[in-house]
Amino acid sequence: MRIANVGGRLHLVTDAGSADVHTASDGRFGPDPQSVYETWAEFSAWAAGASTVDYTPLDTGLLGAPVPQPRQVFAIGLNYTEHAAESGYPPESMPVTFTKFPSCLTGPFATVDLPSAFVDWEVELVVAISKRATAVDASDGWDHIAGVTIGQDLSERKMQGEGTKPQFSLAKSFAGFGPTGPWLVTPDELPDRDDLAIGSAVSGESMQDSRTSRMIYPVPTLIARLSGVCTLLPGDLIFTGTPAGVGNARTPQRFLSAGDVLVSTIEGIGEITTRFR
Ligand code: ZN
Repeated sequence: MRIANVGGRLHLVTDAGSADVHTASDGRFGPDPQSVYETWAEFSAWAAGASTVDYTPLDTGLLGAPVPQPRQVFAIGLNYTEHAAESGYPPESMPVTFTKFPSCLTGPFATVDLPSAFVDWEVELVVAISKRATAVDASDGWDHIAGVTIGQDLSERKMQGEGTKPQFSLAKSFAGFGPTGPWLVTPDELPDRDDLAIGSAVSGESMQDSRTSRMIYPVPTLIARLSGVCTLLPGDLIFTGTPAGVGNARTPQRFLSAGDVLVSTIEGIGEITTRFR
């Protein structure tokens, strides 16, 4: 199943088009794209049987963030060995956790204002939580995930490293610094939920090209570690970390400029396009 935020309303999406969930379910679910996670099991069961729904062509220009208002957004840094290495961290470094404040989330075709000349790209698999949970065993990790989407963890590198104890959250939370989309895909639709091609390109030049199987902490491990501290809430997001190829690790360093077009792709989900000014 694929679900999307179309003009602020929850839609089912298929190759045939999209359907407004609130209308198709006679008011049982939707229209708010965020509230569906409170009744995810019931919604999934309804959607599985919703074969008689009328689909109309999807207006991609109306797509917004598929999970627009999560209560918690977890983000993982240094979760790919090659990215940790390019960032100057030793191989035994543990991934780190920070947040992207939810107000930075935007949709799959956003135009983002650059706050400085030091904004970098980070394509990431983003997962949405399907049910309230604490202390989840890693073997049950995927059972707590409603679906996956593509995310960009846009990062202002100068601010990210400022201070005696640098913290990442603020520098990664400027307006528009969390493009997500184009929709949420349930894990059963993926060719291999633990091994997806992931990449990004800036103005046509490939920058990142990896696979999600190279995560140091795979998705189920992240669910276990995060839920061991925080209660995960329905509709929370986790940005699971970026592979190698970011701009500040390149020689010479490269950052996003006005006019750049950032395309981020993940196998089985699709692609999102972010423009800068
Ligand atoms: Zn990141």
